[in-house]
Amino acid sequence: MAPQDSGCLFCKIVAGSIPCDKVYEDDDYLAFRDINPQAPLHVLVIPKRHIATLNDVTEADISLIGGMIPVAARIAAEEGCAENGYRTVFNCNAGAGQTVFHVHLHVMGGRMMTWPPG
Ligand code: 5GP
Ligand code: ZN
Repeated sequence: MAPQDSGCLFCKIVAGSIPCDKVYEDDDYLAFRDINPQAPLHVLVIPKRHIATLNDVTEADISLIGGMIPVAARIAAEEGCAENGYRTVFNCNAGAGQTVFHVHLHVMGGRMMTWPPG
């Protein structure tokens, strides 16, 4: 699936014009290490197709968005975090801390997580 927003940072990563530390890729998804990790494991799982925020997810996107979860679980397992536990986060819009407007699932682990998040 081709990215749709040429001005989007994560679409540029999908296109390969900005490098990333890739941990997983298939036809629909790319996962790469966060440039500013907040935990020993901090990976971003993204759909290759541009969707700006969770508010923009339509019924047609449900399987694409749902498919991000087994990708996250697979990465957590490969990184040795499945048994101890890991945190998954979608930030939606600026009030939740979203800074890159291409849907992404944070996958964090390798340390004790606190609750509630800030
Ligand atoms: P948000 O705050 O939108 O939920 O998460 C965006 C994440 O993208 C942040 O954790 C930030 O560190 C990460 N990020 C921003 N720019 C880049 C980049 O160029 N490469 C990578 N790998 N991560 C990035
Ligand atoms: Zn994008």
